[in-house]
Amino acid sequence: LAERGEPFTVITETAPIAAATHGGRAKCLQRLIRLGLPVPRTVALSFDAVHEIAAGHYVDFAPLIAAFGEAPLLSVRASSADPDWGGPGAILNIGMSGEMRDRLAGEIGEAAANALYLRFIHAYAVHVARLDAELFDIPEQPDQGAIERALVVYEEETDEPFPQSVEVQLGEVLRSMARAWEGPTARLLRQARGAPPDAGLGLVVQEMALGLGPPESGAGVIQFVNSATGEPQITGRYLSQAQGREALLPGAKGAIYLTRDPRGPSLEELCPKCFAELVEYGRICRERLREEMQIEFTLSAGRLHVLDAVRVARSSRAAVRIAVDLAEDGIISRADALLRIPPRALTDLLHPQVDPRGKRDVLARGVAASPGAAVGRLVFSSTAAQAAAARDEKAILVRRETTPEDVRGMHAAAGVLTERGGMTSHAAVIARGLGVPCVVGADIEIDQRERLIRCADGRVLREGEVITLDGTAGEVLAGAAPLLEPALDGAFRKLMDWAEAASDIDIRANADTPADAERARNFGARGIGLCRTEHMFFEEDRLGVMREMIFAETPEDRAAVLEMLLPMQREDFLKLFRIMEGLPVCIRLFDPPLHEFLPHDREGLRELAESLDMPIAEVTRRVEALSEFNPMLGMRGVRLGITVPEIYDMQARAIFEATVEAKAEGAHVVPEIMIPLVSARREVELVKTRIDAVAAAVRNERGQDFTYRLGVMVETPRAALRADEIAHHAAFLSFGTNDLTQMTYGLSRDDAGRFMSAYVKLGVFPEDPFHVLDTEGVGELLSIGAARGRAARPDLTLAICGEHGGNPESIAFCRDAGYDYVSCSPYRVPVARLAAAHLAL
Ligand code: PEP
Ligand code: MG
Repeated sequence: LAERGEPFTVITETAPIAAATHGGRAKCLQRLIRLGLPVPRTVALSFDAVHEIAAGHYVDFAPLIAAFGEAPLLSVRASSADPDWGGPGAILNIGMSGEMRDRLAGEIGEAAANALYLRFIHAYAVHVARLDAELFDIPEQPDQGAIERALVVYEEETDEPFPQSVEVQLGEVLRSMARAWEGPTARLLRQARGAPPDAGLGLVVQEMALGLGPPESGAGVIQFVNSATGEPQITGRYLSQAQGREALLPGAKGAIYLTRDPRGPSLEELCPKCFAELVEYGRICRERLREEMQIEFTLSAGRLHVLDAVRVARSSRAAVRIAVDLAEDGIISRADALLRIPPRALTDLLHPQVDPRGKRDVLARGVAASPGAAVGRLVFSSTAAQAAAARDEKAILVRRETTPEDVRGMHAAAGVLTERGGMTSHAAVIARGLGVPCVVGADIEIDQRERLIRCADGRVLREGEVITLDGTAGEVLAGAAPLLEPALDGAFRKLMDWAEAASDIDIRANADTPADAERARNFGARGIGLCRTEHMFFEEDRLGVMREMIFAETPEDRAAVLEMLLPMQREDFLKLFRIMEGLPVCIRLFDPPLHEFLPHDREGLRELAESLDMPIAEVTRRVEALSEFNPMLGMRGVRLGITVPEIYDMQARAIFEATVEAKAEGAHVVPEIMIPLVSARREVELVKTRIDAVAAAVRNERGQDFTYRLGVMVETPRAALRADEIAHHAAFLSFGTNDLTQMTYGLSRDDAGRFMSAYVKLGVFPEDPFHVLDTEGVGELLSIGAARGRAARPDLTLAICGEHGGNPESIAFCRDAGYDYVSCSPYRVPVARLAAAHLAL
C-alpha cells in the first residue's frame, strides 16, 4: 500500500480526490466543501485502501483516527464509483463506549447519551459481529439497564467483551464493510446493476454531528423538487433528536414538516435560520453542481451540518422536467438536458393511465412496480400471453413471481401481476425495462392448477376474465376501467422540440388509423412512414365487400364491387391527411394474401355462401383454390397488385381524390404511395404505369393538379441487391425489415417463437433478430441497398419501417448508413427521437 501512496486523504478543497479512485460520495463531499457548505471533517479511503483492508494488509488505524483530533464520534459510509451499485449501509457513532457515554451525558443529557451508546452496540453487533438483530431489544427510553443487558448479550454471543477502544471499533467496521463489498452476493447484485466485476469501493469516515442533545437537534433530508413530477417543491423529512437516514424512514415517530404546515410544527418555524440556510444551500447545489440534490443534514444545538448530498431520486417524468428546467434557467445547455435522459426512460411517460374520474372497484393492492395502466384478460403462463398477443388480444400475465423464462411472455403481455416480489424483483425490473405496467407483491393468492386467483376480499377471478392493472397506483381493478391517453406536459414537449432540432435523422410513425395518427402527432412524429391499408379492411362493414370482391367472376364485376370500397378508403385517407396537417403520409398499397379475408371454418363458409347466394360447395372450392402452401411467400404484395390490378387502382384513386379534397380544405398534401414486397424492377414499372394513369384521370376529372411520390418497400433480399435499377422508378426506398429479416434468414416471422428462446439461450443468435436488427446479415443488405440505390439516384430518400425502426441501436445503424428517416410505432417515436438526438450530439 505504501507504494500506492496515502491510504487515506482528508477531504479538503484541494485534496486529490476523484470519483474513479475514491468513489462518488467522496467526490461529491469535496464539491460541497468547495461550495462552502458546512461539512464535518471527512476522510476518504480509496478503492485500493479498502481492498487492502479487506485483504487484512492494512491494519493500523491510529493515524486515521488522529486525523480527527478530539472528535468524539465517527461514521463510516460507502462511496462506490456509481451510487446505483449500492454498498454496505452506513455505521454511525463509532467511538461510543462506557466512558464516552459518561462524557456525553454531561453535554447532551443522560437519555441522549444512552440512546447513542445502545444504538451503536446494536449496529455493531448486527453489522460487524453479525449477530441476530432479534437478540437485542431497543427500548424507546434506554436506561443504563438496557445498555448492560445489551453488553451481556454481546459478550455471551461473541465470547468477547464489547470493544471499548475507537481504534478497534473503527478497524472492525472498516474491515467488515470492505469484506461485505467483496463477497459474492454483493458482487452479483452490483453486476446486475451494471457494475464491472472489479468495481471498487471507497469509504468515507466522517466526524459525527450529533443530532441528539439540546434543542434544536435532529436529522433530516431535504430536496427542492417533487420526485414524481419534477416540479419545484420543498419535500423531505426532519426528526428531532435523531441521527442518520434510518431515523427518517417513513413511519419514523415524531417526524415534523419541513415547511410551515397547518397540520403541525415545522422546521421552518422551529429553526428559521437553519431552514433558510438549507434553502440557500439547495440553490447553490443546483446552480454549481448543475443538478437537483437531496441534502442530508444534522442540527446540533441549532447548528447546521451538511453530511451528504445525493442526486434526487426521480421518476422519468421528473427527470425530464428537471433537465428542461435546468436548461431553461441557463444552468445546463439544451444538449446536456437531452443527454441526461436515457431514451428508453421516455416510454414510462407514454402509457395510458386509469381515468381518475371513473369508478374504481379495487380487487387487490400491491407494489406499484412499473407505471401505466392496461386492460386485459387474465392468463397464467407466458405461452398463453404470447398466444394472446398473436391474436392481437391484450393479456394480463399473472405469476407467483417471474423468472427469465417469462421475459418473452412479459413482452407480449399488456400488464404483469405477481403475488410475490418488491420493487427490485425480477418482474418489477423487467417490466420497467419493457415499459409494461406491473404490480408485484399483490394481496392475491394464485392457484396455478385451477388457473384462478383469490382476492383478499374473497372474490375469485378465472383465466380469461378481464381486469385492469394500474401500475401507477399499484392496484388491480375489476373489469375494464376507462383509460386516459398520457398527458404530455410542457417539459416533455420542449425536450422533444430540442431533440428534433438536434437530430439529423427524421422520425415518422407507423400509423394505420386516425387514432394512431393522433397519437403519432401527439408524440411528435414528423409524418406517417407506413400506413398498412389492409388493416382498414378488417372492419365488419368492409369485410363483406372484400369477400364479394374476392369472389367476383370478372374484372368488371370486381371493379364494380371495389367502387363500394372507394368512398370508404377515400374517407380513411382524408382523415389521415387532416390529422397530419401537411406532414408526409406514406400509404402502402394492399399487402396480404387475399385468403386472409376468407372464413376458414364451416360456420363461416356457410354464412359466406348465404350472403353471396352461392352453394356452399362452390364457396368452399373457391376458398380452397385461394389457399397457398406458403402464403407469406405467395400471392401477396405487389404480386397481387399485378395479377388483380383493380385493387391498387381503387386505392390510388382513393388517395388522389382524398388529396384533392384535402387541398380544397387548405391542407398541403403530397401523398406518398409505397409498393410492398417488390423483387423486380418490372413490377414497379407495371404498377407505376397504372398509378400514373389513375393520377392523370383524377386530375382530369377534378380539374385539379397535384403531385405524388411513388416508392418501393425493400422487403426481399433481391430488392436490396437490385436497389439501383429499382431506384430508377422510385422516389424513395423504405426497408421493411420484418419481411427482410424473415427472408434473409429464411425464418418465418410467425413461427420463429417456437424455437427462438432456445436459439438465443444457446447463443445461435445473440438476440431475436425480429426484435433487434441483425446488423451483420440483414444490416449488410440495408447498406448494400442504400449504397446502390443512392448511386443510381442521388436524391433517393431512404427509410426503414420495420419494427426495428424504434430501436436506438437500429437507428444508429441507419443513420450511419445515410438513411433519411426511421418509422416506428407511435409509442416509440419519443424514444427514437431522443435516441436520434443523442447520436447527433
Ligand atoms: C416489414 O415487412 O418490415 C413491414 C414493415 O411490413 P409488414 O410488417 O406489414 O409486413
Ligand atoms: Mg412486410
